[in-house]
This record gives sequence, C-alpha cells and structure tokens, in this order.
Amino acid sequence: NDGGHDAKNLRVKLVLLGDSGVGKSCIVLRFVRGQFDPTSKVTVGASFLSQTIALQDSTTVKFEIWDTAGQERYAALAPLYYRGAAVAVVVYDITSPDSFSKAQYWVKELQKHGSPDIVMALVGNKADLNEKREVAVQDGIDYAEKNRMFFIETSAKTADNINELFEEIAKRLPRPSA
Ligand code: GDP
Ligand code: MG
Repeated sequence: NDGGHDAKNLRVKLVLLGDSGVGKSCIVLRFVRGQFDPTSKVTVGASFLSQTIALQDSTTVKFEIWDTAGQERYAALAPLYYRGAAVAVVVYDITSPDSFSKAQYWVKELQKHGSPDIVMALVGNKADLNEKREVAVQDGIDYAEKNRMFFIETSAKTADNINELFEEIAKRLPRPSA
C-alpha cells in the first residue's frame, strides 16, 4: 500500500472555505453523518472529518475534510489548511451577497497560493431559502465558469445536492496513472 494513492483507492485532502455562517459545517455534517443540526456550534479554528465514497467504476475516494472557521481572526491560518489540498470547496449563502463577494476573495487566494492543479468547487448553499435569494443562480454559474470551477447549489438542511457535490468532485479528480 502506498498510502491510498493507487488508481482504485484515492485519498484526497479537501478544504472548505467561505464566510462564517454560510453552512460549511452543516454541509460536512450532512455529508458525513446524514444529519442537520440547526443549533450546530460555530467552528473554532478548524475541524477534521473523513468520509469515503464509492464511484460507479468501483473506485473509492476517501475525503479528508478540513472545515475551517470563517472568522477574520483565523484568516491568517487558512493557508495551513488549503496548502497541499487537492480540492477546495468555496461556499457562499445564496441569501447573502456579502458571502458571495467573500467567496470570490477565497477563489483569488487559492489561485495565488493553492496547488496549481487544485480542483475547485463553488457552492451556493441554503438553496432551500429561495424566497430570500439575493444571489442569482446565473451569477454563480458565470463566476464559476470564468474561474474553471465546478458549480452547484446545495441545501445542508434538506440534503439537496450534498452527495452530488462530493460525487462530482470525485469525478473531477486527476487519476494517478497506475
Ligand atoms: P459555517 O460557519 O459556514 O460552518 O456555518 P454553519 O454550518 O455553522 O451554519 C450556520 C447557520 O446556517 C446555522 O444556523 C445553520 O443551521 C444554518 N444553515 C446551514 N446550512 C443551511 C441550509 O442549507 N439551509 C438553511 N436554511 N440553513 C442552513
Ligand atoms: Mg463552521
């Protein structure tokens, strides 16, 4: 075993970035435990969880997920988490234009300082709050396209598109040649 990097069993470091309150921790909790806890605690510093999924071609992908805190006072720590990450998931809240701007800041940061071959996803979360939407779907699509990112809207609350998010990321991972 070479540490999980054979062609059939991938192990990838994934970091979640985005403003405080956009739902990063809830997305992880929904994906890993299948739960949504509306009283979930604010993340301090960063937390770590892992989850393995199987793809149709029988490849397994083990995500080692670093869920960061969005607060300004932790911004200086972010490079510790995204450095060496194969995947970055940048999250905003579709009811918050400020969080969409903050997502764009993180994308630029990753383009400057992340791995050159990092797989990036842009996620508009809280899609269940469509009646309070303040970021158009098309704005997410356009920004992601310009920056060669995968885009999806999710709801950690209803579970909408949460598994799809991680499955799509898995499909986009560069495969090591055997
Ligand atoms: P984080 O700071 O980005 O980790 O955000 P949290 O995961 O702690 O979530 C912040 C708040 O948003 C909490 O009150 C959650 O209950 C709420 N929340 C998270 N995801 C969703 C969602 O998909 N829909 C709705 N309606 N609320 C959500
Ligand atoms: Mg959190």
